[in-house]
Order: sequence, then structure tokens, then C-alpha cells
Amino acid sequence: MIKNLGETKDTYSTIIIGGGIVGAGVFRDLSLHDIDCLIIDKKDFSSQTSSKSSKMLHGGIRYLENFDFPLVWEALHEKNLWLKIAPHLCFEEKFYLPIYSDSIRPKWMIRIGLFLYDLLSSFENSPYEMKSKEESVAINKDLKEQDLRGSGVYHDAVVDDARLTIEVLRDGALNPRCHALNHTSLEKYEFLESKKVAVTLKDEITGESKKIHCKDIVFATGPFTDQIMSMNKDIHWEPKLLPSRGSHIWLDKDRLKIETAILLTPNDGRVIFVIPQGDRILVGTTESKVEEDYFDLSPSDEEITYLLANLNQYFPKANVEKEDILSSFAGIRPLVKDDSTAALGKTARVHKHYQPLHNCHVLVGGKYTTFRTMAQDVTRIIVHNHKKAYDHSKTVAPFRFKMRYNPFKDKATQEQIEEMKKYEFVRCEEDLKRRYRY
Ligand SMILES: Cc1cc2nc3c(=O)[nH]c(=O)nc-3n(C[C@H](O)[C@H](O)[C@H](O)COP(=O)(O)OP(=O)(O)OC[C@H]3O[C@@H](n4cnc5c(N)ncnc54)[C@H](O)[C@@H]3O)c2cc1C
Repeated sequence: MIKNLGETKDTYSTIIIGGGIVGAGVFRDLSLHDIDCLIIDKKDFSSQTSSKSSKMLHGGIRYLENFDFPLVWEALHEKNLWLKIAPHLCFEEKFYLPIYSDSIRPKWMIRIGLFLYDLLSSFENSPYEMKSKEESVAINKDLKEQDLRGSGVYHDAVVDDARLTIEVLRDGALNPRCHALNHTSLEKYEFLESKKVAVTLKDEITGESKKIHCKDIVFATGPFTDQIMSMNKDIHWEPKLLPSRGSHIWLDKDRLKIETAILLTPNDGRVIFVIPQGDRILVGTTESKVEEDYFDLSPSDEEITYLLANLNQYFPKANVEKEDILSSFAGIRPLVKDDSTAALGKTARVHKHYQPLHNCHVLVGGKYTTFRTMAQDVTRIIVHNHKKAYDHSKTVAPFRFKMRYNPFKDKATQEQIEEMKKYEFVRCEEDLKRRYRY
């Protein structure tokens, strides 16, 4: 493992910019195909969007209404794959969808939707159920009873998003020809006549700058992509993103008497997830336009008020207040513009691969859940260009290292912390604090 920019080589076959889940997926896949590569991130790995999600691996039940069946099919298969590959980092959860007499979607519609959801998983999902009012409040005691008609129950997965990204990177870094370096920013990139790319990087910790050459450059910079692509005038990049901000709050698990995850469907057409995870409950999310700097965001007062108002509408007995919030976070969905709709909630979560020059790949959009297939759009091309056969079975195999730290159940032991410090790209005390509970 390299420790700073000075330890990088002068050339790599591929340089990946952005160490969220998408870049990590590209890195691991190239490593598994023995293509030497370097991945860098301006901040800590997985410190931006990929640790600010609703922490679900899911097909996206609400995308059924937009008839996004291929997306839901792909995401459900990926969810069920990761439940097998990384059972210590994700678990299946029952999601209750309460139905009230004034709900937009009646019971029969929910039943059809949930059947379709299971069908699109090739029936790998645990089967959906319909519950009566009494059964719904028996398990989720704080749920509003008035006008409740029952609930639909379906299954998705809860994931530790930040930790999964780190493990994907760690697996990739097992190949000594593949290097990962955080706190290193992209300053400049030039496409040379020699068909190589000259990439100028800056180590944000040591202050050192270095020019490194590569054959291919991959941008996996999520919501930051339009800004980064416009740094180079040779590409003639037109902005492609419709950034959408989303915020979450964490509550103590005792603050709401619920035993399952619950999907709230307020009448503004949005959805809010309430998801128990270990000793806490996650509530989110919002959806709004964003204008400010995209790094290290916090929720606005308006977003917090919106989440609390909806929570108290569905859990009136609990009366959750601002003071109950343990912590909160915000991130930006890297949505790709969809000409058919300007509504953020309706913009499809499909991913896009752009190749403005033969050796320049840009991956944007998509969801955390589909990072593996997203990465494959690029890695297949790069592997073939190296005159190698692309082997699909490599990325669906379990990780090659053995540590089994379960962030939902365990606090990391001292021994595990030492191992993380050694193999998980910890470059400063903040990295350790942000990533692990110990
Ligand atoms: C509120 C919210 C809820 C979500 N919930 C879910 C969910 O439950 N399930 C799901 O599947 N998906 C969900 N998503 C979507 C998912 O989180 C994203 O699609 C995914 O994390 C994007 O990953 P990424 O690697 O493309 O971007 P990022 O994780 O943002 O990675 C991009 C990286 O590029 C780096 N970078 C930027 N500029 C530079 C530079 N100049 N030099 C070097 N590095 C740079 C950044 O530091 C960053 O780490 C949600 C998203 C949001 C915002």
C-alpha cells in the first residue's frame, strides 16, 4: 500500500479520479484483471455521496411507477448478489408500507406493485406480504392508527455504504500493481499527441504535486463531474447533471417504537424511509435543487423541519423534536438530465458512460446498488484494449481478504483498528474517526 503521492509510479495504465463507490468498483475490477491502476480522491475515500445515501441496496420500489423495469431488475439482482458476497456489511430488512384511507395508492395497487417487485427479482426476494391494521401496529407500535387500512411488506437490504466502499477498495489494493491514494486532488489533465494522458495531482496532506502519465483516465466523480470535466477545454463537455440534494437525520433507536423499516408516502408524492440500524434509526430523505459548493454538506433547517413534520404525522405518539436528532448529513444525487422531465423525483436513476475521447471515460448517474455493473461498462473496454478476455465471474466472487467486522453489531476491536490503519488507507486521525466506530 502506498502512503503518499511520492510513492506513486510515474506511469499507470489507468488512473481513476474519484474514490466513491463507483471509482472503487472500477478499481477492484481492473485489479482483478491485473491491469495496473491508480485511484485518487481529493478527500477521504467514500466521504462524499457514497457515505450520504439512505444506506439501502434496493431495486427502487418507487421506480416501478415510472415503468423503469430494466433498472429495477438490475438493481434487485445486484442487491441479492451483495447480500451473498458481503453478508457482514448488509442485511435483508422488511419494509412496511402503511396504507391509509387517503393514501394515493390503494391496497390493490400496492399488492400488484409488490408482486411485480418480487417477479423482477426472479423471486430471489423474500416474498411480499399484506398485513392487517392490527398486525401493522403490533410490530410498529408508534405508527398512526387512525384511518390505517393495513400495510404491504416487501424486502430490501440495509448496507453500511462507507464501509462497503472501503472493502471494495481494499480488495482491489491486494494487487501490488494497483494503488489507492486519498487526500489527493486532480489539478490538471492533458491529452497528449502520444495518446497518453498527463495528470497533475496534488497530495493535500504533504503538499507535494506530481505529474503522472497513463493510457486511460476514468472519471468517477459523481456530482462533481461537470465541474471537473469543464477543467479541460479539449473535451467540449456540456453539463449533464441535474444535482439533487438529499438529507437524513439519525435518532436513537428508543425514540420510535418500531421493529421494521417503514416507507412513508406523504401526499407531496415523495417517499421517506425510516430504517432501524443497530442502535439508531435513520430518517430520510429530502429532494431539492442545490447551488452551493458540493463538498461536506449539512442539511438545511427547512429539510430538518420537513423530515420532522412528516415523521410526526405518521408517528404522532412519538412527538420527535429537533433536540432528539443525534446527527444529520446531506449529499447530492448525481442524477443525469432527463429531457422528458424536470422533476427531480422522477428523473431516472439510470447510469451513463460517456467517452468523449478514446482514452477518456466518464461514469455518472446510477445508484449505489448498481455500482458493479456501472463499473463494468468501462472495465470491459479497458480490459479488451489490453488484449485480455473480460471475466465476468471475477467481480461476483467474494472479497479475497478475511476480516469480518460487522459495523451493525460490533465496535471494532483494537486488533481490527490496527489492521484497518494498516490496510484501509487511513492517512490521518479524522479518517479513522469518520469511518469506524471504536
Ligand atoms: C440522499 C441520497 C440518498 C441515496 N440513497 C441511496 C440508496 O439508498 N441506495 C442507492 O443505491 N443509492 C442511493 N443514493 C445514490 C448513491 O449514493 C450514489 O449514486 C453513489 O454514492 C454515487 O457514487 P459516486 O462514486 O459516483 O460519487 P461520490 O461518492 O460522490 O464519489 C465521487 C468522489 O470524487 C471525488 N472528487 C471530487 N472532485 C475531485 C477532484 N478534483 N480530485 C479528486 N477527487 C475528486 C469526491 O471527493 C468524491 O469522493 C443516494 C444518494 C443520495 C444523495
